[in-house]
Amino acid sequence: MEPFRAATPNHFSLPRRISRLGELVYNIWWTWNPDAMRLFSRIDPELWEKCGHNPVVFLRQVERPKLNAVTNNRYYLEMYDRIFKAFDEYTGAGTTWFSQTHPDLRNRLVAYLSMEFGLHEAIPLYAGGLGILSGDHTKEASDLGLPFVAVGFFYAEGYFIQHITEDGWQEARYNPNKMEDLPVIPVLNEEGKPVTICVEIAGREVQVRIWEIHVGRVPLYLLDSNVESNSPSDRALTARLYSSDLDLRISQEILLGVGGVRALRVLGYNPSVWHMNEGHSAFLSLERIKELMQADHTFDQAVEIVRASNVFTTHTPVPAGNDEFALWLVDKYCATWWEQLDLTREQFIDLARHTISWGDTFSMPVLALRMSHGRNAVSELHGKVTRQMWGFLWPDRHPETVPITHVTNGVHTGTWLARRLRHLFDRYLGLDWMEHVDDLSVMERVIDIPDDQLWAVRRHLKRKLVAYIRERARQEWMYGGAHPSQVVASGVMLDPYALTIGFARRFAPYKRASLIMSDLNRLLKILNKPGMPVQIIFAGKSHPDHEQGKLLIQELYRVIKRADTGGRLVFLDDYDMNLARYLVQGVDVWINTPRRPNEASGTSGEKAALNGVLNFSVLDGWWREGFNDKNGWAIGKDIEYTDLDLQDKEDAASLYETLENDIVPLYYRLRTSDGLPGEWIARMKESIRTLAPQFSTRRMVKEYIERLYMTGMRLPESTKKTAG
Ligand SMILES: *Cc1c(COP(=O)(O)O)cnc(C)c1O
Repeated sequence: MEPFRAATPNHFSLPRRISRLGELVYNIWWTWNPDAMRLFSRIDPELWEKCGHNPVVFLRQVERPKLNAVTNNRYYLEMYDRIFKAFDEYTGAGTTWFSQTHPDLRNRLVAYLSMEFGLHEAIPLYAGGLGILSGDHTKEASDLGLPFVAVGFFYAEGYFIQHITEDGWQEARYNPNKMEDLPVIPVLNEEGKPVTICVEIAGREVQVRIWEIHVGRVPLYLLDSNVESNSPSDRALTARLYSSDLDLRISQEILLGVGGVRALRVLGYNPSVWHMNEGHSAFLSLERIKELMQADHTFDQAVEIVRASNVFTTHTPVPAGNDEFALWLVDKYCATWWEQLDLTREQFIDLARHTISWGDTFSMPVLALRMSHGRNAVSELHGKVTRQMWGFLWPDRHPETVPITHVTNGVHTGTWLARRLRHLFDRYLGLDWMEHVDDLSVMERVIDIPDDQLWAVRRHLKRKLVAYIRERARQEWMYGGAHPSQVVASGVMLDPYALTIGFARRFAPYKRASLIMSDLNRLLKILNKPGMPVQIIFAGKSHPDHEQGKLLIQELYRVIKRADTGGRLVFLDDYDMNLARYLVQGVDVWINTPRRPNEASGTSGEKAALNGVLNFSVLDGWWREGFNDKNGWAIGKDIEYTDLDLQDKEDAASLYETLENDIVPLYYRLRTSDGLPGEWIARMKESIRTLAPQFSTRRMVKEYIERLYMTGMRLPESTKKTAG
């Protein structure tokens, strides 16, 4: 059976000369090709902003005269032809990195399952870092030509929209995702009927529809339980991300793991590698074992086969952050499974047993670790923490030899690099530099970029950020019913020429957002120093059910609103990929203050580094590997603390000292010959040169292929065959 490809709809009424725009929309290649996005925005920039950079909505709403106008614009048409040439070359490419490097493995396939995919702000199927990583991984798999298929959810409401009240309290609103507004394609069978699968959840047969997003050369399939024949509560199973309701959560994870396997089977896929991005999809192993047992393997044989082709990535160094279920939930949802697997209840629970303070649980990471041969954490230090955390599963081994490796996270260059910088790099690094972004000798050429040109682009990006923030504040003032102090807090007083620091992430206590506020008087002096102003832009959400996170935002917001900050502290509502792009491209310094070693990797700083923004962070996660003394700054020391108060105190002291004595003076120190901050620019180049290659998904996905996927990809074809 040939794997399925959903047909691309083209139902827009467009002038003939530019009719392929309707096709471009449905392959989200445009999300990592900013020139392709310009094909939409050039037609009507205001409408493009108004519809949240969503090309489906844009093409439906744009007025005919505006479309006609560009068909008479030579500049536009040249751009159009150039971009479609690139698009056709990309989608039709016969040779890719993968086909050249591993010609013998062309027919193998990697399946990648994740709870969330962050692809673009107009496709709100993500909450944060995990989703962005899945999205970047999928895009890179496409770029490399890796045979790859991804599976996730279509969330009817996605993650919440954040609004901050005058008193700094986070409110959550949900916007329904309208299917017809998204670049999502229905998967239909030969008769034109929706393809569905069925998953049993606590005795109910839940129908699941399948949708597809074309991600370059790679299909992403989205499972959706919002089907008319399901009961209202089953229809809502895939409504939202990360509910705190445990019944809902286990149901979603059954849908992802079991449904994910069934969806790929019904579409004709037979993957050689199954990659579980986090433990949420770990039930897939049980479904695959069942398949193999139906094809006359014993349980033990089936486990062998499944394990040899499974890869598991863990992202959570904090035990409380791991997904585990009370045993009564397992009884309620999985009671029919142990019999099907020829196991007793105890044997079944042993597959995932985790003994914690209040008793035994069924732990999804334990299940995934036991059922995979490839296991990895997402940075070197996180690897060490992870081996300690799960060492009990290998009681005979010393913690250092626990078989969990690490592959440090990276970011997708095309998605995160500013368009103007991309053009600058095209000029000085060679037109195909992005194909070789993981090659140090190619990125070395950043040194050849003239200082004034690099600085001009950086200044442009900061002005663009400030203009964007002020416009948002203006809209809020005009239409949002905001209090004047909120308008100040949302950035109207920002100075496009002041040293600008960005801090944006999830508000979890270990991220220590308030560290920088710990000595307020000292901070105020730094902000308001005559001739050397500093401004800090904050953004980030707390989980809507997490009071502690919301209190952290409130504490921060109350400081931000104070008049003596001079409007130089700012909080931006509703951190998403759009805001993230503006920030990581537009600020001068990116700051991250997690309590070491709790940051598994972090990726926002990698996005910043790629854009010449200097990192100023705790030596945790990726930064501990990236920092070399010349490409940014460290906060605190690379050591373990047992006294957390002492750790906070020393890290805060280090933060203030480096900021006052090194960072601020360096930014404002201008060379006499050309009036540019020469030493700062040298650091920027050092940052791009050393960090962009190492912390790219290009390096990361190649590492997954060579170190984790290869075992499964090299298995003889016969061992993969199943009953299906
Ligand atoms: C990159 C990104 C993240 C993850 O960044 P961290 O450094 O892991 O905090 C979260 N949210 C958005 C919108 C992002 O773009």
